[in-house]
Amino acid sequence: MTESSAPAASARRLLIVGPPGAGKGTQAERLAAELSIPAISTGDIFRANVSGETELGVLAKSYMDKGEYVPDSVTNDMVRSRLAEDDAKDGFLLDGYPRTIDQVEALDGMLEELGTSLDAVLLLVVETEEVVGRLVERGKAQGRSDDTEETIRRRLEVYAEQTAPLIDVYEKRDLVRRVDGMASIDDVTVSLRKALTDR
Ligand code: AMP
Repeated sequence: MTESSAPAASARRLLIVGPPGAGKGTQAERLAAELSIPAISTGDIFRANVSGETELGVLAKSYMDKGEYVPDSVTNDMVRSRLAEDDAKDGFLLDGYPRTIDQVEALDGMLEELGTSLDAVLLLVVETEEVVGRLVERGKAQGRSDDTEETIRRRLEVYAEQTAPLIDVYEKRDLVRRVDGMASIDDVTVSLRKALTDR
């Protein structure tokens, strides 16, 4: 990879945020692969537990199917143990976490314990109506039980109420880098890369 296309080596502790359907998962996978860091998606971890019919999965499913958040204590414990794994030692890209103020505080505590801190928060900016359309399509294609129109609307409401305010918190820490999430998948990846290297 050439230097101009490679994200800055120093920015390796990252969050990707944005409403459901903004493309966080797709972009997180791409960026994390380029940076050789794990993409950690709380949604994926919950879904794996749902499929495996674990105790955590049964609990998580009851919230996920309604478009509600899984309780903070459960989610925080799950992320704490994931971040303690060896592959996250030199960096990580968290996708879908934190989603509440309580989770922001919990993450601050975890990073402090690990003697580290966040480098950047990547925000995918999208239009809500477009996102609903995308999610309805994804629901049909992937059979995700929380991608029905009713649940999608609830997830967007919950995002607006509980997660959008987090952007201000990270803005105050001067960590937020905004990227237009309405462009093509490839163009969004290019913009994210640029957002990490500009500065
Ligand atoms: P996602 O795949 O990120 O859209 O997450 C799917 C669902 O998993 C969400 O609608 C929540 O029910 C649950 N979930 C994922 N991440 C979190 C989180 N950080 N806090 C609480 N619930 C979460």
